[in-house]
Amino acid sequence: PARPAGAGPAPALPTGALTEAEAKRLAAAYGIPVTREVLAVDAESAVTAAGTIGYPVVLKGVSRAVVHKSDLGLVKLRLADAAAVRAAFAEIAAALPEREGVLVQEMARGEAELILGARWEPGFGPLVLIGFGGVLVEVLADVQLASAPLRPADAESMLRRLKLWPVLAGVRGRPALDVAAAVDALVRLSWLAADLGPRLVEMDLNPILLRAAGEGAIAVDARATLA
Ligand code: ADP
Ligand code: MG
Repeated sequence: PARPAGAGPAPALPTGALTEAEAKRLAAAYGIPVTREVLAVDAESAVTAAGTIGYPVVLKGVSRAVVHKSDLGLVKLRLADAAAVRAAFAEIAAALPEREGVLVQEMARGEAELILGARWEPGFGPLVLIGFGGVLVEVLADVQLASAPLRPADAESMLRRLKLWPVLAGVRGRPALDVAAAVDALVRLSWLAADLGPRLVEMDLNPILLRAAGEGAIAVDARATLA
């Protein structure tokens, strides 16, 4: 397969569990669109960051010790003004097990939530996964796996094999979604997985929000473990 322009190389990163911001930096180095975000250490710098990013914003408490942030009340969506940012910052600070900072990020929109995953499978090699997800990924169990790296045509076939493919193609008056953007993100993630090899224990972009055709996709959450 041909490598897409701007896919890699990976930046220097620590081993072990990466923070959301670190995992997004890795994704962005492969040309996968991620949210604009700033790490804030106190409420006033969170307000300043929100003004730069533009309202509405999202605040997230980040800690290497936390896997599912929303379960702990660490994700505050749709914050419309400085007062909402201050209040959210205080709630997150109280709920965080060990404070490493609070991410202030753009509030992205999308018509569907996809999960993109990658991992090194011992005895097999680099794998990628795509499915419908967000918080419902385990419930829906609608995923497709393939070995990396992928050609765009392979990535598109994976999408077409999803049970919820009609949602991407446009059903019952809903718009067709940006399948090309999902294909591009999956191909880029497959190059990331192929390049990192056994160093990439696992990585999830969950969710990537997919917008209407021509409007793109954006990863709003990311997780990765490096060996
Ligand atoms: P968790 O660690 O619980 O998976 P996420 O960062 O994925 O936390 O946030 C939970 C949910 O909040 C996401 O599945 C998504 O629906 C929504 N969300 C998170 N960040 C954003 C954002 N920047 N813009 C829009 N929605 C977001
Ligand atoms: Mg998530």
